[in-house]
Amino acid sequence: MNDGKICVPVCAANMEGFAGEMDRAAEVADVIELRLDYLNEIVPEILWRKLKEIRKTFSGKILVTYRPKDQGGARAISNEQRAAFWSENSDLYIYEHADWADLEHDFDLKVGAAFLRALYKRLIWSFHDFDGVPENLAEIYAKLRDEANFRSAPPRENDLLKIAVRTNDVSDSLRLWKLFKDAPEGTLIPIAMGEAGKWTRILGPAFGAPLTYASLDKGGNAPGQIPAREMAEVYRVKELSRETLVYAIIGDPVTKSLSPYMHNAAFKLRGIDAVFMHMEVKDLDRFMREFVPGSGLNFGGFAVTMPHKETIIPYLDELDETARAIGAVNTVKFENGKLIGLNTDIYGVVEPLTRAYGDLKGARVAILGAGGAARACVYALRQKGARTTIFARNAEKTRAIAGVFGCAVGDFPVTELRSFDIVINATPLGMKPGQENFSLLTADRFGDIKLAFDLITKPAETGFMREAKKAGVETIGGLEMLIAQGVKQFEIWTGQDAPLEVMREAAVERL
Ligand code: NAP
Repeated sequence: MNDGKICVPVCAANMEGFAGEMDRAAEVADVIELRLDYLNEIVPEILWRKLKEIRKTFSGKILVTYRPKDQGGARAISNEQRAAFWSENSDLYIYEHADWADLEHDFDLKVGAAFLRALYKRLIWSFHDFDGVPENLAEIYAKLRDEANFRSAPPRENDLLKIAVRTNDVSDSLRLWKLFKDAPEGTLIPIAMGEAGKWTRILGPAFGAPLTYASLDKGGNAPGQIPAREMAEVYRVKELSRETLVYAIIGDPVTKSLSPYMHNAAFKLRGIDAVFMHMEVKDLDRFMREFVPGSGLNFGGFAVTMPHKETIIPYLDELDETARAIGAVNTVKFENGKLIGLNTDIYGVVEPLTRAYGDLKGARVAILGAGGAARACVYALRQKGARTTIFARNAEKTRAIAGVFGCAVGDFPVTELRSFDIVINATPLGMKPGQENFSLLTADRFGDIKLAFDLITKPAETGFMREAKKAGVETIGGLEMLIAQGVKQFEIWTGQDAPLEVMREAAVERL
């Protein structure tokens, strides 16, 4: 266990909703943050009553925040209003009911720092930038540290510092992370906001962050916040340490990937000290050259997805035979200082097909699409002795695959699939919201097909699968591929058998 605490902000706009959220926060939080700036009207009696009631069972801390809009708060609050709120003359008497207070970096210390220090057990001095990572981050940190009087011996518990900046790419958070690692342990809360910064929320406590913020529900009040239950149960944030092996799915976009749920469930069941997370990587070069060596994370490996499956190859030390043959990597393993690229997509193709169809030797397989997944299909199926034909709109790409792997080429658009046993949709058509009913094949064109496999994971049932069903054809969805390739990844990374059912359950539950 690390010393980090999970802080859950309560952000309802009316007192009733606020009280309800406080109850729910008390079930999952170590620290409940009362975001009083969210309330349309603060009714002190209700707030005090609720706090007294919660204290009977909640042993954590109560943190109060009253943030003006220009610092990321919910409403415009003038400096006068802010001063009045925190003042000893405020008729809110909030200091009688709270443990900690969060003060924005620009808050005028002259307005009663001594008073605040005397009444709150801990002050958090916070800086927010919702637009990006400021160039002068180090300067901002130094200023915060001086304001909080960090260099003098702490008169009681240390005050804390919080820096929250907006990131669009994982590597954007590197400067903040380095600053955090150089700061005295347990003093700085580093938050990279946005999808690309989620990893800082998960790994902060492992590296000495005293707090990490998590939401009550999906969404939260800051970009990239993860629900508190998920932080505790999926990512096990309080159990992680600097030594924990870090795995991530790298790509853009990656947020919707189910891989973290599958792998974390498997790590948890097997008692492996490892965590798996989404890492939104836009600039692969920056990630591989700067972030991987500079972050100090104990990387064990990556799952690689679009658009980096091919472009990652020059950064790797070795490729296994399959990755070399397909020309794409979906798995990276860190081994004795080397980065090894592998491809488990072929298991994702072959395993579900074999389970549903039986021996693939001699099977006639039509593959729609000529991208990375189609290449993995052709390679995997030919190894199993199947006869493959690809149908795709880009004649050049199609010819290239046929040239490399020696498969046949069919006419596109597809008319009718006569003399085929299996059809695989290896295009993303039908994946985007609003396109759920799109299909490259209508029911009348499935010809002799007995089995239709759509590689799309979400939606679980695609337009292509519905058309196949209409034609009386058995179907398999992309989740089966995801699970099968993930099982193989787990085995590559850990050297252990993968708990298939647990991984399936975790993925299905999330889907
Ligand atoms: P990719 O490299 O981008 O290739 C996509 C292929 O589909 C290309 O040939 C593209 O043609 C074609 N295509 C796209 N839109 C089309 C349309 N409207 N009509 C006809 N053809 C179209 O992508 P990928 O990596 O191969 O992935 C393909 C699909 O497989 C995706 O849906 C992906 O999510 C899924 N997949 C699933 C798993 C899993 O674990 N379940 C694993 C890998 C991939 P152009 O080249 O002409 O654009």
